[in-house]
Amino acid sequence: MEEILARTTDPKMRDQMEKVAQLHGYLSTGAFAGIQMFNIAERILGTGDGDRLFVTCETYHCLPDSFQALGSCTIGNKGLRILDYGKMAATITRRAPAGSRVKAVRVILDPAKTVRYPRLHSWYMKTEKVPHPEAISLLIQAGEGVYSWRIIEHVVPEKPQKVIVLCEKCQESFIRRKDEALCPNCLDGERAGGI
Ligand SMILES: [Zn+2]
Repeated sequence: MEEILARTTDPKMRDQMEKVAQLHGYLSTGAFAGIQMFNIAERILGTGDGDRLFVTCETYHCLPDSFQALGSCTIGNKGLRILDYGKMAATITRRAPAGSRVKAVRVILDPAKTVRYPRLHSWYMKTEKVPHPEAISLLIQAGEGVYSWRIIEHVVPEKPQKVIVLCEKCQESFIRRKDEALCPNCLDGERAGGI
């Protein structure tokens, strides 16, 4: 990390690397890829400081932390959604009111492009053990050249109304999704034959 930071002259990138490393615990190659994806999206969508984003990451590995650190989108504020597809891909858009039409960009670290950097490709496909500093250096060298993206137009969906009820079994309050009388815990317990 120190070594890579020392070689990074762009102050914005240095700042981003520090923020992401602080949240993630260290600067992993995947988290660094997340910074590059964030910057691609920022350029394409014309977003900047203070813009609140809505991001869908297609993996639980590393990427979500980059967006949480840089884009003011977190699990808790519902600006971040994670789909467990195991893909180094993310879709980024500006937060907008329900019903409005917005531009989103889906960015992926493209294996058809990383193949031009054999050691980076080995890291990506997990065919060799490649240390993070080496893989990150290759990502810096390759820049945006190893990513692919496409623009998607979509309409922000309406938020479902939040209905809170007391569970008929444990009497704890929970957000009801349909018309269930028991909370998910108790329902699971029932399915499992009681806890
Ligand atoms: Zn319950």
